[in-house]
This record gives sequence, C-alpha cells and structure tokens, in this order.
Amino acid sequence: MHASVALQSDVLVIGSGLAGMLCALRCAEHGRVALVTKDRLPESSSAYAQGGIASVWGADDTFESHIDDTLTAGAGLCRRDAVEAVVREGPDRVRELIALGVHFDLNADSEHPTYDLGREGGHSHRRILHALDQTGSEMVRVLGEAVRAAPDVQLIENHLAVELILDRRGSTPACWGAYVLDKATGRIHRFLARATILCTGGSGKVYLYTSNPDVATGDGLAMAYRAGARVANMEFFQFHPTCLYHPQAKSFLLTEALRGEGALLRRPDGERFMPRYHPLAELAPRDVVARAIDSEMKEHGFDSVYLDISHRDAAWVRTRFPSVHRHCLEYGFDLATQPVPVVPAAHYQCGGIVTDLQARTSIGRLYAAGEVACTGLHGANRLASNSLLEALVFGQRAATHMIDSLQADRTPPPPHPPWDTGAATTSTESVVVSQDWDEIRRFMWNYVGIVRSNQRLERARKRITLLQDEIHGYYWNVLPSSDLIELRNIATVAELIIACASHRRESRGLHTTIDYPEPRASEQHDTVVQRGSSRAPIPLPTGSWR
Ligand SMILES: Cc1cc2nc3c(=O)[nH]c(=O)nc-3n(C[C@H](O)[C@H](O)[C@H](O)COP(=O)(O)OP(=O)(O)OC[C@H]3O[C@@H](n4cnc5c(N)ncnc54)[C@H](O)[C@@H]3O)c2cc1C
Repeated sequence: MHASVALQSDVLVIGSGLAGMLCALRCAEHGRVALVTKDRLPESSSAYAQGGIASVWGADDTFESHIDDTLTAGAGLCRRDAVEAVVREGPDRVRELIALGVHFDLNADSEHPTYDLGREGGHSHRRILHALDQTGSEMVRVLGEAVRAAPDVQLIENHLAVELILDRRGSTPACWGAYVLDKATGRIHRFLARATILCTGGSGKVYLYTSNPDVATGDGLAMAYRAGARVANMEFFQFHPTCLYHPQAKSFLLTEALRGEGALLRRPDGERFMPRYHPLAELAPRDVVARAIDSEMKEHGFDSVYLDISHRDAAWVRTRFPSVHRHCLEYGFDLATQPVPVVPAAHYQCGGIVTDLQARTSIGRLYAAGEVACTGLHGANRLASNSLLEALVFGQRAATHMIDSLQADRTPPPPHPPWDTGAATTSTESVVVSQDWDEIRRFMWNYVGIVRSNQRLERARKRITLLQDEIHGYYWNVLPSSDLIELRNIATVAELIIACASHRRESRGLHTTIDYPEPRASEQHDTVVQRGSSRAPIPLPTGSWR
C-alpha cells in the first residue's frame, strides 16, 4: 500500500497542547500551518492542569525570587539562561493569554479586584494564576477556539505522527515533516513542511501509575531520538505526591494547591508525618513529599496515606476546588469533610529532546517545545506550575525563530518517498502489544520508580533490551496500529530513562538511588545521550548539549 503526499505546509506542528496551539497560532500570522494531533484537539496534559501557571505578578514578587526558586528546585542542573528567559518573558505571555480571553480567578472581596495568586511547594511567593482548579481546561478552551477560527491553521485531529521525514545528505540531518497515520483509515501519509515542531508532551504512560492522560506516550521524544537528536536528563521524572487512591480511579490528581491552602498529609492512624521529613512540611518540594509518602508506605505497609483539608471551611473547599471535590465524591470521598486516600504517581518528564533558547533541536529544521523538550529550565527537578509557563514561552520563541528562518530561506521540501509497508500484514495478535505494555509499565514502576538501585536498574535494563528486540522484530512485520506505534515509543522512553538513570552515580533532584544516596560534585552535569549504531542510547561526553 503506497500513499501519496497528503499535505504540504510551511510549518508542521505535532501536538495540540498548550505549546502546540500557541506555536501554531503565532506561526499562522506569517504562513500556512498544519496542526496534527493524535486524538481530539483538547486531549492533552495541558487540559488536565489544575493548579495553575507560575508568573511574577504580585507587587511584592520579583523576577529574581522566581529565578532563585526555580534554580533551587533544579538542584544545580538548571541552565540559567533558560530560567531567565522563562521567568522574565512569562508575564507577557500570560497577559497575551488574558487578552485572548483566558479568565483567571480574581480576589472577589477586594475593592479593586486583583488576580488571586495561589502558592505551591518550593515557591517563596504567591504567584500561581489559576482558574479555580481547572486552569488547563480554561486555557485549552480559549486557545482551541482561536485555533479553530484561524484561517491559516489546518487542524488535523485523530492523526498520529509515526516517524520524522529526514534528509541525511548534509553534515547534520534536516527534518522536512513527518509520516502520519490516519487512525480512521490506517493509512500513513507524508506531511511535508519547511519546519517541524514536536509539541507532543510527556511520557507518564511509561509508568504503571500516572496522572497523565493516555496520549502521554513519549511519541515525539522517541521519534526525535530515532532520528538522531540529542536527548537529556531522562532520569529526572517527577512523581506527583497526591493522586487519588481508588481501584477504579485512573490516577486522578489532587492538586498541590490543596497543600498550598493548608491541606495536611496524615498516616492512616491520623498522625501528621511531613514535619519529620522537611522544615517546609507539606509545602516541601514535590520530590521530598513523594519520597516521604513512599517511605511511610513501604516502611509500614500502608496502601496509601491521607490528604486532609477538612479543618478548612467546607463551603470554601467546595467553591475553591469544585472539580477535585466533585471527582472525589464520585469515588465516595467528601474532600470538604474527610481525609482522602492518596498515593504518588508519575507526573512530569523533566528531561527530553535537547533544545537551545530558540527551541531548536540538534536536527536541522526540527524544533521541540513544551514537556517533550529539555530546555534546561527544570534541571534535576521542576518547580510546580513552571511547565505551563515554559510551554508558552518556548512555543512563542520557536514560532519567532521559525518565522524568521522561513522568511530568510524559501527552499521547498525535496521529494521524499511514500511510507513503504513492504510485506507487512494485519496483526492478529493484539495480546502481544498489551502484554508488553503491562510488562514495561510494571517493571518501570517497581525498578525505576521513586527510589532506585544499581541492581534494580540492571534488572530493568535486561528486560527492556529483550523487549526492544521483540518489539523491533514484530513492528516491521505487521501494519502499524496506534497501539503498536505507542508501544514502540514507550519502550524507547523506558530505555532512555534506564540509560540516563544508570549513568548518574549520585542522588540529585528527582533521581534517588540507594547506592549513591548523596549528590556528588563530580556528577553535577546533564546526562546527554544519542542513539548509537546498535540502536541503544550512548552517553555523550560531559559538556555536550546541542
Ligand atoms: C493532571 C495534570 C495536572 C497538571 N497540572 C499542572 C499545573 O497546574 N501547572 C503546570 O504548570 N503544569 C501542570 N501539569 C503539567 C503540564 O500540564 C504539562 O507539562 C503541559 O501541559 C505540557 O504541555 P505540552 O503542550 O507540552 O503537551 P500536552 O499538553 O501534553 O500536549 C501534547 C499533545 O501532543 C499530542 N500528541 C502526542 N503524540 C502525538 C503524535 N505521535 N502525533 C500527533 N499528536 C501527538 C497529544 O495528543 C496532545 O495533543 C499537569 C499535568 C497533568 C497531567
């Protein structure tokens, strides 16, 4: 089965979260944009963001303070120029969202209403703009309407990017678009473009328990890695401390803003334990809270711990956290009047495709923005609510650079062959895919989770090597389905996390290993890897970035 060129545009944006939509809108002011997304437009991590977006806004807040908080959270691995860019440009990006129609909550009781600024762990000031506990869905609603109304954005839903289209003739490969699967027909088309940006989000689905939606399978990261792009710091995966613990709840997150508003963490016997772990207690950085919960659970055999905000006025809790309150009620817990059982879950990928300050990757004409990218903002740990801000700032920066470059260089895409399915046949063995999925997610949770060890990492490495061989063999013999494509990508993400984690011989930020419990000065550098000739990740020398 051969497919003809389905589409040609100036810019191909892959992914319709905050980074992708913002970038598509900005690029469309100067050229034709194709915005491809593998589900419906709103389905993304962006849409589920609850807490809000961090930005220097209050009269008593300063850029220096937000920069310092971000650097402190990043545990010595943030790139200062990226931190400065995001913090200093943040307020302008937020103002543009407000101008587009995003409603953030105001302080209703004041005579001159000001924005109600939330506080989250690791922030020394109140600086989180929010729309109740549905900030992400409010942003996605407004940007989604703008995208649908933009004449030069061609929105293509239910299409999944499979592989980047590369020209390897120059000294560095150049990307001219992507092969894209139409999920309705099963056909793979060429989407050619003069510049391509990956805004495909994170990869929480690599772990058994995650706050992430099903689309978070690391597709963009895996495609870029296969194409030869540099990938960094994948050992730093953030686990959100408080997801609802209930067999039927698919890891529903209880926002950190609850702890910002006074919620306490308790053991099943009612004892508050966080003051034993950190001076900031419940407002300690997320990794500290997640490890403390993990340790309480493992030491005492608890199935979960409890999050308790029942000491605050019940009516206020229902009004301030309507969505969380409603969701907990569906599972039989009244957040306003009783403690709710919680466990940690994989939440945010701090590492990703290495980019510079213009969101350029190490592959020509290929950009990355949002959670898929590693800009240097987060270092070894993300400060809460900095990720939506990063998606906006780098989505905009990528658009600015793409527009300038495409105006300076009008070379059209060279001819590229259609996707060749060879002798592949339709799969009759979907059990193979689901078995491999379950296996990867379970051993990643058990061996490469919140606390690691050399032995566990080695076990994980052996298993992923075996599975990678199996998946590779199977992949080329059957016609690709979205499940199989996602499995292959999640296996690559797992391999990258294991490789980066094995390479880091210390505990720093989100990476904790019992074999090297302390940070070491000699290890204070990024872990940058690239695909080697055997397909496995090869660590690059210290100091390699783009
Ligand atoms: C429950 C939850 C709560 C959060 N709360 C906050 C918060 O309060 N504040 C904060 O700053 N951050 C928060 N985060 C993190 C934040 O939401 C994400 O980091 C951010 O939204 C990522 O935006 P993005 O545009 O990079 O990716 P996403 O919003 O995840 O969008 C990725 C897009 O790519 C598409 N896609 C993926 N693969 C393909 C493919 N192969 N082909 C085509 N399309 C593809 C997806 O369908 C999706 O549209 C939260 C995350 C979760 C899951």
